[in-house]
Amino acid sequence: MTTVTLQRAKCIGCNYCEEMAPELFRMSRKDGKSTLLHAHDAKGFHTVRLSGEDPAEKALRAAQACPVKIISVRTK
Ligand code: SF4
Repeated sequence: MTTVTLQRAKCIGCNYCEEMAPELFRMSRKDGKSTLLHAHDAKGFHTVRLSGEDPAEKALRAAQACPVKIISVRTK
C-alpha cells in the first residue's frame, strides 16, 4: 500500500506531476493548481492510498519531478 500526499496550497502550477502521472494528478482549471485525484483533504494535506506497483512508481516520479517538493510518497 502506498500513501501519496499533496500540500496543495504550495503548488506553483508547473504541470510536471500531471505529465508524470496523469492517472493521479489533474491541473485545476479554477485555480491552476494540481489536484490529487480521489484524495481526502485534511487541513491542506490531500492524501490518497494506492495499491499496485505501477501507480506507486508513477507517484514517485511525480514527487521527484515536483520543483517545490510538495508531493510525498510512502510505501509500507
Ligand atoms: S509538480 Fe508540484 S508544483 Fe508542479 S503542478 Fe505538480 S504539485 Fe504543483
